[in-house]
Amino acid sequence: MEMKLGHNSTHTIDKRGIMNIAVSGCLLGESIRFDGGHKRDRFITDALGAFATFVPFCPEHLAFGTPRPSIRLVSVEGEIKVYSNKSDTDVTQELLRASHTELSRLSPQPLSGIIFKSKSPSCGMKSAKRYWENGHCEGKEDGVFMALCRARFPLLPMEEEGRLEDAWLRENFVMQLFAYHAFETFKTASPTMGDLVAFHTKNKFMLQSKNESLYRQLGNIVANRDALSLSHLIDAYEVGFKTAIATKSSIKKTRNVLEHLVGFFKNELTHGEKETLHTQIADYATKIIPLIVPLSTIYLYAKKYAISYLLAQTFLDPYPKTLALRSHIESGK
Ligand code: SF4
Repeated sequence: MEMKLGHNSTHTIDKRGIMNIAVSGCLLGESIRFDGGHKRDRFITDALGAFATFVPFCPEHLAFGTPRPSIRLVSVEGEIKVYSNKSDTDVTQELLRASHTELSRLSPQPLSGIIFKSKSPSCGMKSAKRYWENGHCEGKEDGVFMALCRARFPLLPMEEEGRLEDAWLRENFVMQLFAYHAFETFKTASPTMGDLVAFHTKNKFMLQSKNESLYRQLGNIVANRDALSLSHLIDAYEVGFKTAIATKSSIKKTRNVLEHLVGFFKNELTHGEKETLHTQIADYATKIIPLIVPLSTIYLYAKKYAISYLLAQTFLDPYPKTLALRSHIESGK
């Protein structure tokens, strides 16, 4: 049930190309929920849809059809079971079988991320309720299918639509998606050692805004003091890069990067211009203005003084600007 959405969008297709994102089918508007309804999510279908081919999945529709009785997760002697709410029968094996089938369908696809439906006993990310046998809620859990995906794709960007309503989590996830996709594109283009150095160089400030320590470790990998083979280096770099981009940024880390960027103009700017830029950064840090304001000023000076090193940085342009995620004060935390 693969389908393409968003290719007729009025957005300009970004130079970064179209990525594949697996999504809970109900979030794409497919009427496959237990009650025959859907939970279409406009940010996913309309905003992300301009840059993605969606690969829908629905383990419950595959296991039980639609409509179907709702199910719940039950803790039985330390094990998680799945029970039908209508008949109170154990349907764990049926759901597991369908989940493995969906996983086998997703596994060969060149995915750049997965978006799950929150709170679902199949798809929720630590948000599916887990009950005692007496019917009381015990806590929250990964859904059955989600747990399989977490184990199968440990470095793949994954989020649920509920958490993506938070501007900070949304910005972090979208940056991670595009960075992951950029690495996959880089890796499949038979990169040379020079390409690896160039890839690391242009991602320098983006990585620093995520994880300074991993950024330094990645620099050591690229320096290749032990003269390892290129394929060995790329494998090691991949793990570090994908782990770094999964780290959430913070206002403090982003501010450090911004201050560092100002250093590139220190001989060109007047005292007043520098003061204005530092004020913008301080106003961003205190959540008076969004990140896009100091970034636009930095971009302007990078253009004006033709600082190609800065203009090539993904930190200045991590995803299509039409997503406008850095225009919200709440996207910093
Ligand atoms: S199993 Fe997942 S994809 Fe299917 S309806 Fe439930 S939440 Fe949506």
